[in-house]
Amino acid sequence: MKRTLFLILTLALLLASCAAPVKRTDTVFAMDTVMELTVYGDEALLEDARDVITDMESRLSVTLEGSEINALNSHGSAALSPDTVKLLEGALELCALTGGALDITVYPLVRAWGFTTGEYRVPGEDEIAGLLERVDYNAVALGDGEARLPEGAMVDLGAVAKGYLDDAIAGLWREEGVKSGLLNLGGSVYALGGKPDGSAWRVGVRDPFGSGYLGVIEARDVAVVTSGGYERYFEQDGRTYWHILDPKTGFPADSGLSSVTVVGQEGLLCDGLSTALFVMGLDAATELWRGRTDFDLVLVTSGGEVYITDGLESVFSLSGSYKDKEVKVIRRG
Ligand code: ADP
Ligand code: MG
Repeated sequence: MKRTLFLILTLALLLASCAAPVKRTDTVFAMDTVMELTVYGDEALLEDARDVITDMESRLSVTLEGSEINALNSHGSAALSPDTVKLLEGALELCALTGGALDITVYPLVRAWGFTTGEYRVPGEDEIAGLLERVDYNAVALGDGEARLPEGAMVDLGAVAKGYLDDAIAGLWREEGVKSGLLNLGGSVYALGGKPDGSAWRVGVRDPFGSGYLGVIEARDVAVVTSGGYERYFEQDGRTYWHILDPKTGFPADSGLSSVTVVGQEGLLCDGLSTALFVMGLDAATELWRGRTDFDLVLVTSGGEVYITDGLESVFSLSGSYKDKEVKVIRRG
């Protein structure tokens, strides 16, 4: 009797372990950042994700010779694959939505400040004024699978590419039947489904003033994208200069925000907005949010105040040294 019970139990355990998808993880260095992939399912899912990353980087990289964007910048025009056209169209829409706070043609300035190469410098006023004349996303002409730029203009999709990559990998995994996965593409996070035990993924929001986390968002089928001055910066003569530029001034954005986290279903939107709202500041970000229903925000001011929009009230909590801080909730009314 005991033996039969033992056998049944062993069999049940065996069946259960066969049925439960296996956790697979991988780390990839691409697009100048560390990408962490987690998925429950077959090993091949990771390979599929890596293929999407390689394909996208080979088309979108500004620095990689032969990429579609590199060709566009070098020659002033280039044929684009349908997927690149789609991304470019989406990015241009976000430039318009944010009144040019996001501007994919800010690249000549990004390059002058050395954020592309790591050879940082503070360009002179005249140099900045000259380069600003080349910045205008409205001048990007798109049609018939081809893009054209005016003389001297250059495009950089760095502010939106990782969010778009989130969408592409999550979309593919969904088609492949994945119920549970987590992407962290250097700060552009996407939570596919929840954890296998049914609970939500817990996504940390970085403390812009330290190395730990400021809070946690319980995430399910959403992108969580953060932009902040702490991600890439240099110091000179006692001043800090970071990699998100205000396309109106050509200088690092100084809107009074230290980080912006955008939560929503579309990674591209969240990535573009996280960069743009960092440029726009608290009031303009709040106003933009009030007119839409497709994203929510965590805003941290340079004074250390934490604001969230009301859609995050039940899923955001403070952590670490922020535990006792007041969180101000922004509402629609
Ligand atoms: P990260 O890539 O560090 O996660 P973002 O998504 O905010 O951060 O993108 C910042 C990158 O976008 C910069 O490194 C630069 O290449 C580019 N960039 C900087 N300022 C702007 C801007 N105002 N509009 C569009 N792209 C920008
Ligand atoms: Mg961004």
